[in-house]
Amino acid sequence: MKTALVCGAGGFIGHHLVKFLKAEGYWVRGVDVKFPEYEDSAADEFYQLDLRDRGNCLTAVRLDRYGNEGVDEVYQLAADMGGIGYISGHRSKIATENVLINTHMLMASEAFGVKRHFYSSSACVYPAYRQNDPDVTPLCEEDAAPAEPEEGYGWEKLYSEKLCEYYNDDGKVPTRVARFHNVFGPLGTYDGGREKAPAALCRKVALAEDGGEIEVWGDGAQTRSFMYVDDCVEGIYRITQSDYDRPLNLGTDYLVTIDELAAAVADVAGKTITVKHVDGPQGVRGRNSDNSLLYDTLGWEPRFSLREGLAATYPWIAAQVARNGSVVAPETVAS
Ligand code: NAD
Repeated sequence: MKTALVCGAGGFIGHHLVKFLKAEGYWVRGVDVKFPEYEDSAADEFYQLDLRDRGNCLTAVRLDRYGNEGVDEVYQLAADMGGIGYISGHRSKIATENVLINTHMLMASEAFGVKRHFYSSSACVYPAYRQNDPDVTPLCEEDAAPAEPEEGYGWEKLYSEKLCEYYNDDGKVPTRVARFHNVFGPLGTYDGGREKAPAALCRKVALAEDGGEIEVWGDGAQTRSFMYVDDCVEGIYRITQSDYDRPLNLGTDYLVTIDELAAAVADVAGKTITVKHVDGPQGVRGRNSDNSLLYDTLGWEPRFSLREGLAATYPWIAAQVARNGSVVAPETVAS
């Protein structure tokens, strides 16, 4: 039986990835500073560890307490992150702590001869100068250079991508890297300040009366593409098993404005909603994924439509809001 470690297994994508790997027949260890918030982890073992610490990274990768054997595959998704409001307000913390996690996890994977080390990068590595127009040209992988990524979070991701490349090319650990483009789905953060646009809009629409109003940061014309989480975890797995050792986009190429996203959520909810535009951080003006290289490499690309994803996500968030109320934080744009 193959063994896998999922770092960040208490978080949104990591939790779904554990379920996916279990369904593929893996023995899985999950590691995170926190346990999953909304349901128990499907992992065979779950360690609560702070992965900024190098010793904890070695503990996470080592298969048994005294042995020298490590897990077969490491999926590194642990990160301090959130939507644009969070990442633009915590640059030093994000850049420092995530580089520590990524570096120590690569060192641990090398120490135990891990066969594949997957790293979750982000579309935030792409330069701002290519994303000034809402009618954006989809970004292909080579567009990351010359670099001008998102301050803090984007620089950290770009540097950690390079670290993966060096570890791979120096023969230390075979690495695989995906650049996620805005992932959403059930069991994701939907309030408190770290949530991203789809979850925030679902929460706002759930809280609004039929015929009511919700607030959106900016003029609502900023554009993004959004990927349903089931596509994300399948893509992570396919990329990790592939022979391709350079970063690949992992997202959809269906571009919508944030106003269109809000309208789609309202439609799924069966409510008539008016959008009120207010001042707030918006991130880049427009961003879309060019999936040519992904498709050429894997013969696969994400397949869930925005509508299908929202139809699975909105009812879950509406149920959470109905049960727990909401700490309303006005996070209404994507990073
Ligand atoms: P998330 O915040 O739900 O999960 C990240 C997890 O990492 C959290 O559970 C957190 O507790 C854990 N973590 C943070 N610091 C840690 C530490 N010191 N030690 C151990 N665990 C720690 O985020 P997510 O949406 O599941 O994102 C997973 C990965 O994908 C991240 O690397 C993120 O940067 C990347 N990503 C996500 C998106 C998206 O749209 N969700 C987009 C681009 C990239």
